[in-house]
Amino acid sequence: MSTLEVRGLRAAVAGTEILRGIDLTVSSGEVHAVMGPNGAGKSTLSAVIMGKPGYEVLAGTVTLDGVDVLALPAWERALAGLHLVMQYPTEVPGVLLDDVLAEALTSRGRSTDGLEQLLVDEAARIGFDERLLHRPLNVDLSGGEKKRNETLQLAVLAPKVAILDELDSGLDIDALRDCSRRVEALSNDGLGVLAITHYSRLLTELRPDRVHVLVKGRIVASGGPELVDVLERDGYAAFGDAPEPVEAAAAAASSLDDLFKI
Ligand code: ADP
Ligand code: MG
Repeated sequence: MSTLEVRGLRAAVAGTEILRGIDLTVSSGEVHAVMGPNGAGKSTLSAVIMGKPGYEVLAGTVTLDGVDVLALPAWERALAGLHLVMQYPTEVPGVLLDDVLAEALTSRGRSTDGLEQLLVDEAARIGFDERLLHRPLNVDLSGGEKKRNETLQLAVLAPKVAILDELDSGLDIDALRDCSRRVEALSNDGLGVLAITHYSRLLTELRPDRVHVLVKGRIVASGGPELVDVLERDGYAAFGDAPEPVEAAAAAASSLDDLFKI
């Protein structure tokens, strides 16, 4: 049993506070969805948990089974059992996918016996073209192939907790179904999942136990899966993301003023 615990997390990027006090607890086998509009801080949350450089933690803690992960470089967080499926997977020319996975397993003290067959089986399971297994990581892959590739890596590495940053972006309907079903099966085998998305469609196959609404760097509502339906119906506006009419009116007035000045 593993637990990722985020407490009072505040973080800034380029001097601007983006995360303004986040509390989340994800345990083995649980699926937590974090939903929020563009710019809410979803990717920032995933980056800060995983240790991407350039983010300043202002307050709070992130622990995995009691270990302070904020004190670790990203690669040690990965060895400790955290895994990030990136919103925009990186292309790594010259580095082959099968070599990456063999190295990653070895560095985790795990055997690579049978890896080739495991890759073939996993590829078949999520409709990832077998020929892409021996290609440079993500290079020249379509958006859907990249996300299938990321899902395959997740399945092979089997971390303790996975953060999915918009697994659904760039995916067609078939790929979305294949990938979200695979992650759902992993969660049934004990993977803890933090699934970040702004659409509900990811969550039809990947069934969340808890849903959190992130708006402007804060979790403004948490609930069960029914919260997805509320969001689908009412949008994020119902959760404090309504346009700010006073400022909008002021901006419109000032641009008209500018016009009249000419
Ligand atoms: P989301 O993933 O919810 O769409 P992000 O976490 O990517 O949102 O971004 C949250 C806010 O932080 C946005 O206003 C974005 O412009 C800002 N931001 C993110 N990364 C940087 C950065 N490297 N430099 C400056 N601003 C950033
Ligand atoms: Mg994002």
